[in-house]
Amino acid sequence: MPKQSDTMTEKYNFGTWMTAHDLSLHPVGIETLWLNITRLCNQACHHCHLSASPEMPLHMSKAVMDACLSVIASNAAIRSVDITGGAPELHPGFEALVGAIRHLDKKVTVRHNLTVTLDGHPLTGESRTYLPEFFAANRVELLASMPAWEKDAADQIRGRGVFEKSLKSLRQLNAVGYGSRPELILKLVTNHDGPLSATKRVLLESRFHEVLGEYGIKFNDLLTVTNIPAGRYATDLQRTGGYDEYMNGLIQASDETAIKAATCRTLVSVGPDGRLYDCDFNLALDRGLNPDTSQTIFEFDYDRLINRTINFAGHCFACSAGAGSG
Ligand code: SF4
Repeated sequence: MPKQSDTMTEKYNFGTWMTAHDLSLHPVGIETLWLNITRLCNQACHHCHLSASPEMPLHMSKAVMDACLSVIASNAAIRSVDITGGAPELHPGFEALVGAIRHLDKKVTVRHNLTVTLDGHPLTGESRTYLPEFFAANRVELLASMPAWEKDAADQIRGRGVFEKSLKSLRQLNAVGYGSRPELILKLVTNHDGPLSATKRVLLESRFHEVLGEYGIKFNDLLTVTNIPAGRYATDLQRTGGYDEYMNGLIQASDETAIKAATCRTLVSVGPDGRLYDCDFNLALDRGLNPDTSQTIFEFDYDRLINRTINFAGHCFACSAGAGSG
């Protein structure tokens, strides 16, 4: 059954917009397998499309992880694996998973919230201070959440004290070589309420470099993700009466270039239970793949998957607006 936020986007017809722009978009390959391994997080950020939190201890099972590793090993086209959550470092099998993927000589990217290194496990208190060295030893590329370069704004989005903890964690990553050694890539990720043009993204990145540079922080790039109207963020928009305004803003800023670069054209996402999705946003909305292809990691068929029709819907306007969503 569709979730509430999914139902809310139904009246914004993405298919009609695509037809009006003479667009018929299909996958161009599967270069990346995106693994969502847990809903558990040490934080509960208001923009989180998965509504992850310390109260969501759902983990990917070992059987699903093993099936993912088997797919990664047997499909040469999959060159990289993107691991996310929740805070993926809280999954008890996280380190073993990263080690196994690196052993297969594939690139690993981890979506890292920075604070988990200092907060540790929200339920057991178990430390995660070893993470910077672990990431460096495994040449993990990091996409680290940094919502704002200004303390009050960052704390408002992600919780009190998050800005200072994020700076401390970034310094620890810099200390092991992230942001300076060419093989240790550190990209910051900021969520944005509404679309942002390519020019504004460049200005925003320059401001991040400037301000964080004053704190002595180095990083490689800034990625800007347009907030997807899903999960906790969609509920907030509805509660404050801003949902329709937000959607209309996305539609007005939509263009063809951004949607042609949508990540669903080059990846498949795997949920904690092994179900497959076009992207992590569709996973959040419980929109599985259309029935014309493999449905779970256990029946992964590369040829069927690249010939699937993508399960587009109203929330996809976040990927077509401005310069896209990351
Ligand atoms: S939200 Fe829609 S357009 Fe964006 S990656 Fe997912 S399926 Fe593609």
